[in-house]
Amino acid sequence: MNNNFVDVLVVGGGVVGLAIAKTFSAEGRDVLVVERENTFGSVTSSRNSGVIHAGVYYDQKSLKAKFCAQGNKRIYEYCDKFKIPHFNTGKFIVACSKDEIPRLDEIYEKAGDNGVEGIQRVTGDYVANVEPLIECEEALFVPSSGIVDQTSLMRSYLGELELSGSIAYNSNFIKSVLKNNIHISTILNEGNEIKIESTILINAAGLYAEEVAKSISYLDKSLIPRTYYAKGNYFETSKDLNIRHLIYPIPNEASLGLHLGLDIGMQVRFGPDVEWIDEINYKVDENRLDAFYRDIKKYIPTFDKTLLKKGYSGVRPKLKNRGEGKSDFMIQSEKIHKVPNLINLFGIESPGLTASIVLGEHMLELVS
Ligand SMILES: Cc1cc2nc3c(=O)[nH]c(=O)nc-3n(C[C@H](O)[C@H](O)[C@H](O)COP(=O)(O)OP(=O)(O)OC[C@H]3O[C@@H](n4cnc5c(N)ncnc54)[C@H](O)[C@@H]3O)c2cc1C
Repeated sequence: MNNNFVDVLVVGGGVVGLAIAKTFSAEGRDVLVVERENTFGSVTSSRNSGVIHAGVYYDQKSLKAKFCAQGNKRIYEYCDKFKIPHFNTGKFIVACSKDEIPRLDEIYEKAGDNGVEGIQRVTGDYVANVEPLIECEEALFVPSSGIVDQTSLMRSYLGELELSGSIAYNSNFIKSVLKNNIHISTILNEGNEIKIESTILINAAGLYAEEVAKSISYLDKSLIPRTYYAKGNYFETSKDLNIRHLIYPIPNEASLGLHLGLDIGMQVRFGPDVEWIDEINYKVDENRLDAFYRDIKKYIPTFDKTLLKKGYSGVRPKLKNRGEGKSDFMIQSEKIHKVPNLINLFGIESPGLTASIVLGEHMLELVS
């Protein structure tokens, strides 16, 4: 940063903000990320399932479908190149009753439309052979799903960003005004107001993107979508269940269903469920344990309830409320709001981690 002037100011140091910043940095552009917490990625980017999604579920024309399918390949290449801990575990989407089998057909078709390769229809016996604890009627095997250590991934993005940029922690974006096409942003850093001028301003504030957008004085407020919050709770077990694939039930409108996920040490966790909330909080209610147990029993009938322990939670920024259907990512650039070199990202829920590299590159295209 030179005399409080940068080429690109990114609000938010989550996985998406960092991916955007590293992309501009690789072009030799002077970038500053402002992050109001005291470290990077401590909000939604560390409160997720860490899954590299294949892109099977999303509607063909959606931004999620577009960015996930491309993002999947790019994350694997990136992790190989920079030695980021990850596993290409593959996943089973399981139909646990005969009624659910038609839903497998729909997902199979959608995956084909989205260009996801290698998906196989398999029998319940096939699944039981590979994962003896899992019981189902039929399943889809998705070979390109996997897991990544998101902290290592973000640390690597940060390393790349620092080639020609930096991140300022404890730095809260307060407002922005526009003068001669230069964005003049006010940042509150430990009680001090600092003005940063930038040619490009990118709002990657995740759950808070609506709030940040509202404080950009020259943005038409009628374009800002409302954000609804859908918390996803997790329960964990410390016992090694010797399961090595991700196991997903049939998805519902608001989530991919209460799945069995794995961390990089192969520890099993279940979730996320869906809890619509009015205000952001990360409390995991112990009373949800019974509902978790009921769902888990559908695909692991022998599961011992006493193994379940309260885990963590994350909150999805949804652009549609409960019962209103599926949300997509929303990216607003000059074409929509007529302000040059301003981009707002709204509703970046799952698969935002998987899509992060491609989202970063898309921002560069939008301002080029
Ligand atoms: C329960 C759950 C499970 C998920 N599982 C997966 C998965 O398995 N795979 C996948 O691909 N995706 C998954 N996702 C989605 C993924 O986690 C998100 O899409 C991604 O983390 C979003 O990153 P972000 O950078 O946009 O947001 P964030 O990580 O929230 O980062 C935004 C940052 O902006 C900062 N900020 C906010 N306001 C200001 C301000 N005024 N000034 C300065 N800084 C500010 C915040 O402090 C924060 O650090 C999941 C999400 C949830 C909730």
